[in-house]
Amino acid sequence: MSKLTESTQELIIEGAGCASCVGKIETVLNNISGVENAQMNFALRMVSITGDVNAKVLINAIESIGYNAKSVSESSDNELIDEKEIADQKYYNSLIKQMWMALGLGIPLIVYGLAGGAMTADTSLARTVWLFIGVLCAAIMYFSGKHFYLGAWKSLVNHSANMDTLIALGTGTAWLYSMVVVLFPMVLPEMARHVYFEATAMIIGLINLGLALEVKARGKTSEAIKRLIGLQVKTARVVRDNKELDIAIEQVLLDDIVRVRPGEKVPVDGVVIQGNTAIDESMLTGEPMPIEKGKGDEIVAGTLNKSGSILFQATRIGKDTAIAHIINMVKKAQNSKPSIGRLADVISAYFVPVVMIIAILSALVWFNFGPDPVIAYAVVSATTVLIIACPCALGLATPMSVMVGVGKAAESGVLIRHGEALQTASKITAMILDKTGTITEGKPSVTDIIIADRNYSEQQILTLAGSIESNSEHPLAQAIVDSALAKNLVLENTSEFNAIAGYGVQAKLNNQQLIFGNQKLMLKNAIALNDFVARAQQLADSAKTPMYLAIDNKLVAIIAVSDPIKADSVAAIKRLQAKDIRVVMLTGDNRATANAVAQQVGIKEVFAEVLPEEKSNKVAELQAQGEIVGMTGDGINDAPALALANVGFAIGTGTDVAIESADITLMRGSLHGLADAIAVSKATLANIKQNLFGAFIYNVAGIPVAAGILYPFFGLMLNPVVAGAAMAFSSLTVVSNANRLRLFKPQ
Ligand code: ADP
Ligand code: MG
Repeated sequence: MSKLTESTQELIIEGAGCASCVGKIETVLNNISGVENAQMNFALRMVSITGDVNAKVLINAIESIGYNAKSVSESSDNELIDEKEIADQKYYNSLIKQMWMALGLGIPLIVYGLAGGAMTADTSLARTVWLFIGVLCAAIMYFSGKHFYLGAWKSLVNHSANMDTLIALGTGTAWLYSMVVVLFPMVLPEMARHVYFEATAMIIGLINLGLALEVKARGKTSEAIKRLIGLQVKTARVVRDNKELDIAIEQVLLDDIVRVRPGEKVPVDGVVIQGNTAIDESMLTGEPMPIEKGKGDEIVAGTLNKSGSILFQATRIGKDTAIAHIINMVKKAQNSKPSIGRLADVISAYFVPVVMIIAILSALVWFNFGPDPVIAYAVVSATTVLIIACPCALGLATPMSVMVGVGKAAESGVLIRHGEALQTASKITAMILDKTGTITEGKPSVTDIIIADRNYSEQQILTLAGSIESNSEHPLAQAIVDSALAKNLVLENTSEFNAIAGYGVQAKLNNQQLIFGNQKLMLKNAIALNDFVARAQQLADSAKTPMYLAIDNKLVAIIAVSDPIKADSVAAIKRLQAKDIRVVMLTGDNRATANAVAQQVGIKEVFAEVLPEEKSNKVAELQAQGEIVGMTGDGINDAPALALANVGFAIGTGTDVAIESADITLMRGSLHGLADAIAVSKATLANIKQNLFGAFIYNVAGIPVAAGILYPFFGLMLNPVVAGAAMAFSSLTVVSNANRLRLFKPQ
């Protein structure tokens, strides 16, 4: 449970308008002693910090570099989402209002200009009118653009620069220049007496529009998490003192008896104690078929009771329910960034100062080599470069896609723990599948009992084997015990029990030494098997697992169990192979059984008779061959191999999501989850790359055009207003492209 309980805090950041803030905030937090890792999600304006540090210290650090921070309590997801939604809506409304104010001045001026109106201040009447407009423009800069100038000022005080700096400089330059034209026209040559108030107003309006559209789109990307949070119910019907009463979900206690009627959602996790029903778990596992549940079966919060009325006992409540863990995990994964996104952050941190230098250089070139009026061209080109080069889209590219991708995966029952897993899963070239419980059901049952010593009956043999195995937790042991109990046999107490991992078990019963396990175990104890080896081989060839029972070092029987292959394993393995993934089976079971199973499911490579501690060596072996290895296991004895693999997949069998060594958990037992996970990862990575490419190209192509590189050839000079529109458009493109992922279907 280490990862879930590790102390993580989340802070909402205010005033981080640009992608280049991400690096700054992360650096200052990571430098605090005690902070293990701080990651910021620019799309959500949230940082998650792991480590043992007081929230106050973190908030102070963030404030010291000019941002505001607020802590987020993890306790109430519903409230948090509501709060965020309300805050987002408010922010959106204010951005739209600010946008209209700015456009209200900008659009008429542009129309006037386009209609042939003079944008010059040569007569004293014109100067008076333009002075009035200049003052109006200043008011708009204050009311609609205050956040840019404040942000720029804060970062200046901290000796740094960000997106706000670019916008403030760009719009500020245009306004100042125009005011000089109006107030002191004499200092400028006549040709250069042109005003650019419309540029300032339009840019502020358009950038506010871009931010507003981003806020709206952001709401959509978090739909998946909202859906999960919405699965939690608010009240539960509990039985107390023989009376049924509806109470708030927070008041349900452990061990409470809870009633769920048909059509109702299960309120907390528990075990059915009365009644039978079918439960729809698709919202958690992606498994479309309802699951039959009766006495003793586990049910989990958020799932839907379809048919019967049942009573169950609460076993996990509040933050401990499976759904609460899932929400927590999805939230964290959505906030974490794959390495491809870190690169974008590094680039945008260097971007702003570089752009400022380019703007100055471009102004200098125009001033010294450009046509008249040089000063006007210099100002326009510098302004346009500053505005077009805002690295806003670059910062949004990765987090937006990760949020959608992780949410999308969760919809089909695939829990991705962190962004890096998403990135690596898209590159997997080899997939190792554990046999028992992964390819097969993991619920073996006894099929054959072959007697080697006529002094024992089948019943006696099953009693002896069942008695030893009742000490073991292995699925094979469970099969033997179940079979003995089904025949109403009475199991006896053993002593000196010993489980030998990968071999079998041994114990003392009535002063006799019992040994039960595979051939290797018999060889280890020098027990003669004679021609029973051939009998065992026959069983193994038909995909059964034979186990030998020896009493006082003499073979008495073979018991074979068979574990049915999951219904869709064959199809799911085909899907992986169709993606050119090398599929390998890994098992501790004997070679013949393993080969037989492999053949049935279409796997060509098998690692059999692998001891539990050697499983991770097989992962390393494939990695040494240059493969990017995914390992899938039930997470019990496979933990080291899962941890070593490039991506570890754990089979969560329905509801158990507390599997900590895996990077990705499949909530549905089906191996289709693997192909789904890989498909979602590939789609997400492709989406991130499109976004990054788009954002880069936009900046790389936009800057030289803004600087006026096309002018000597085509006489083309970009208008600062067009730069403002392009910038708003580029963020919008990234956000819309990320949202396109929501339509993705893995199959
Ligand atoms: P798997 O990879 O299939 O989970 P294990 O390493 O757990 O395999 O077990 C490997 C083999 O060791 C089994 O196929 C079985 O022959 C033997 N074995 C392990 N545990 C037991 C047990 N409790 N009873 C009998 N045989 C066992
Ligand atoms: Mg196993």
